[in-house]
Amino acid sequence: MTAAAVSPFGLRRYNAWNEDVKVRYGARVQKVSVEAGFTCPNRDGLVATGGCTFCNNDGFTPLYLERRQSVTQQIDAGLEFLLRRYPGTDRFIAYFQSYSNTYGELQRLRSLYQEALAHPQIRGLAIGTRPDCLGQPVLEYLAELAREHIIELEIGVESCNDAVLSSVNRGHDFAASADAITRAAAQGLEVTAHMLLGLPGESRESMLDGARKLSALPIRALKLHQLQLVRGTALARQWQCDPASVPLFDEQECIALLCDFIERLAPHILLQRVGSEVPPSMKLAPVWNVRLSELAPRISAELARRGSWQGRRYGLVQD
Ligand code: SF4
Repeated sequence: MTAAAVSPFGLRRYNAWNEDVKVRYGARVQKVSVEAGFTCPNRDGLVATGGCTFCNNDGFTPLYLERRQSVTQQIDAGLEFLLRRYPGTDRFIAYFQSYSNTYGELQRLRSLYQEALAHPQIRGLAIGTRPDCLGQPVLEYLAELAREHIIELEIGVESCNDAVLSSVNRGHDFAASADAITRAAAQGLEVTAHMLLGLPGESRESMLDGARKLSALPIRALKLHQLQLVRGTALARQWQCDPASVPLFDEQECIALLCDFIERLAPHILLQRVGSEVPPSMKLAPVWNVRLSELAPRISAELARRGSWQGRRYGLVQD
């Protein structure tokens, strides 16, 4: 039997979120983004100002979003756009994506989430937020919603390295992420962790250590993003002044690191994303020849070349 034949994840070689969704819900589930006017505690002065140095939400906000519209109007606009792009899709969840979508009074959160869930074509919510915006009352309310709806709680971890988190003005440490993930899972919530690989100050070792730390937490899924410099961010300005202070991956380095990371990740964790793509008009660097659609197949091909797969090195003491 060859190494290729024993991959538990088939040709893809990692535990893909999309495959799990198809089995669980019988079809593709599409996210409709909603911009509900939140901010973040490291923007408004509660813990810091200026936000994360890598962040410009416009880099990931769909064009159909209009912040002044109600949640219902945004969902309607999103559905019109998505149904043109993915005709026949009939399973949608509202994605509270931009900024920290649990940062507010519980009453306001209830009103926004209930408006989305009242839409006849919405079956659930994906809620992106920070670990320091997840008090017990919010978690208990989300757990209540999860009894009848799909609820995916997406927590921004970004790095498992406290020095890196501090240098990008994150305003919380890794212990805060571990605590929020653990408390959310204790409420029965399904947690997706969001990671940004390649922040300044990370080393290959610290990022691979992150795979081990995340594997020890009760997360269901993981989104991996690679560092891209978005115009208008503090990190982009830092790179322009001193490129050596913000090392960037080329395509080969990134694919190799992602494979190293995936090999060390617990096999039960679903990979919802293995990369991202900032719109070209917003991206300063790096310039790659690999498009996002090519990244996943390239990762699978590299894992196959190694005779490896997700979790192949999980739990090994020796690296
Ligand atoms: S990355 Fe998230 S937490 Fe940081 S400033 Fe941007 S929206 Fe806020």
